[in-house]
Amino acid sequence: MLSVQESYQELSVSVQSELQNLSVESVLQELPLYNFHFESSQIGQEVAQTFQLNPVLPGIILTEQGKFAGMISRRRFLEQMSRPYGLELFLKRPLKSLYRFAQTEVLILTGDTRIVNAAHRCLERSAELLYEPIAVELAPRTYRVLDTYQLLVAQLHIHELATQLLAQLYHKLEVANLQLEHLATSDGLTGVANRRRFDEYLQTCWEQQCEGNSWLSLIMCDVDFFKSYNDNYGHQAGDECLRQIAAGIRRVLKRPGDLVARYGGEEFGVILPLTPLKGAVQVAEMIRQEVKSLGIPHEKSLVSSGITLSLGVGSIIPTSELLPTTLTATADAALYKAKSSGRDRVVVYPPLNSLQFNSSV
Ligand code: GH3
Ligand code: MG
Ligand code: MG
Repeated sequence: MLSVQESYQELSVSVQSELQNLSVESVLQELPLYNFHFESSQIGQEVAQTFQLNPVLPGIILTEQGKFAGMISRRRFLEQMSRPYGLELFLKRPLKSLYRFAQTEVLILTGDTRIVNAAHRCLERSAELLYEPIAVELAPRTYRVLDTYQLLVAQLHIHELATQLLAQLYHKLEVANLQLEHLATSDGLTGVANRRRFDEYLQTCWEQQCEGNSWLSLIMCDVDFFKSYNDNYGHQAGDECLRQIAAGIRRVLKRPGDLVARYGGEEFGVILPLTPLKGAVQVAEMIRQEVKSLGIPHEKSLVSSGITLSLGVGSIIPTSELLPTTLTATADAALYKAKSSGRDRVVVYPPLNSLQFNSSV
């Protein structure tokens, strides 16, 4: 026969394997419950034998003519038996007489009680009842016994499960947030940053470089004769053309701080932090060539056989007296000049802080 310790180990293993199927919402009837019933007319010896044969059985249900009459826990039973004359008094007598002494308040919970709530109810009991097993009412007149130990282990498992679920949920939320953030800041057609992101980033760069005596540059790029491209090749071809242009500009930008955004319609803005005018002009020229080298035919263009860009470059040393819109206006004015002076070119607007410009470019 197994020792009590071995039996407990066996119980532990069986509880552990049962736990694999538990979820956060699990209820008492999903746990392995003990099903031992005795009529109050049966004698104490029969219960004593049952406890002996089942070393981890925590208690039995007592019935009177088939009806639930109470529960006798192993601990209470052994307590009564070990009292002076306990064996003589109770072993041969009906359980009814023993129950008068062994009786305690029985915690009865229905089978659909959630394990978490059951554990809570169990721990609310007074100190001397804390380790008493509980009765589970599966259906009217159908009772089982559940060990508090089993219940607490199950509760522990559920707690771990809930913690894991929470961590998974948190991770999913983080991913969803990143996706949302990306959606909120990127342009649906071309995949580059949108106007909102452009404004935010320009402001951020401005604040970071403010009073730092360093150059912040902006390139505004506008597709030449794009209206006639759309009219000639159709709006869908126009969309595809904008996608290719955006990808082309992206390929040119190498520094992690550089940002290309769709500023609006067929216009792109490129922010180049910590970049003086000379460097910005080089980047603008590379963008112009990259887009031209895509070789997208544009037979209605008045300046080339393919798609071209006009680019305006502005540079500024951010200071608290100026606003980021000063830089945008500068680059816009340069773009206007690029358009009016023949398109398919890079034009620079005379830098505002010309003194610093001369000394650092
Ligand atoms: P310019 O050389 O002076 O820039 O002439 P343009 O025709 O490019 O300029 P205009 O401002 O007259 O027209 C811009 C056109 O860009 C108008 C519109 O049909 C087109 N456009 C703006 N946004 C989109 C878009 O999302 N998809 C497509 N397919 N076309 C667009
Ligand atoms: Mg245009
Ligand atoms: Mg335009």
